[in-house]
Amino acid sequence: MHLIEIYKSVQGESSFTGWPCIFVRLAGCNLRCAWCDSEYTFAGGVKFTADEIAGRIRAMQPCKLVEFTGGEPILQAAELLPLMERLLGEGYTVLLETSGEKPLGDVPKSVHKIVDVKCPGAGAAAGSFHLPNVEALTRRDEVKFVLSDRADYEFAREFAREHRLAERTGGVLLSPAFRKQAAAERTTANCVLDPRELVEWMLEDGLQARLSLQVHKYIWEPQVKGV
Ligand code: SF4
Repeated sequence: MHLIEIYKSVQGESSFTGWPCIFVRLAGCNLRCAWCDSEYTFAGGVKFTADEIAGRIRAMQPCKLVEFTGGEPILQAAELLPLMERLLGEGYTVLLETSGEKPLGDVPKSVHKIVDVKCPGAGAAAGSFHLPNVEALTRRDEVKFVLSDRADYEFAREFAREHRLAERTGGVLLSPAFRKQAAAERTTANCVLDPRELVEWMLEDGLQARLSLQVHKYIWEPQVKGV
């Protein structure tokens, strides 16, 4: 498997927010989102066997929460899916952050999928979600939308309503996009869309969704990697 990094931090963007978590960041992505903060994963990475990755995860005990992220982890599905099965068997809670551009039907059912459906503001990646994946979503999963403006919000609102995501999944997450040239300050001024404005829209529409701020961007300076 091509690995960028493994590190321990707190989970920052889902209902697991705040829990200590081991992040396994895999190399490679087939999308190019306008707001991507992980471009350093697009190329490179060091080759590790699934055994070696499992060993490094075990060395970080007692943490039993593991998130596979990227890049796009599912590009390495042939090795990733058995590794996730194995970790589940060892009692880990496993999260998978994915764009949902590739089929997700073979992901083990006990894995919590955090699916980042790309909005119009994502640029080249917009509309990349593989629609049949809606059927693979369960109450264990969460669907995230990264929003840069009102058009993105309306896209997310209509998508969530049309596919009944609030009933079908464990939650709909609305996350203001973060500026690529963010100031060093740990402040919401770095959000492309003001969270306060987003909350007003959510309340106005009675939307069954939750505001999701990337908490690591407020704990550490936005440029810090590996946290
Ligand atoms: S899917 Fe994720 S890693 Fe890939 S370009 Fe988009 S934001 Fe970046």
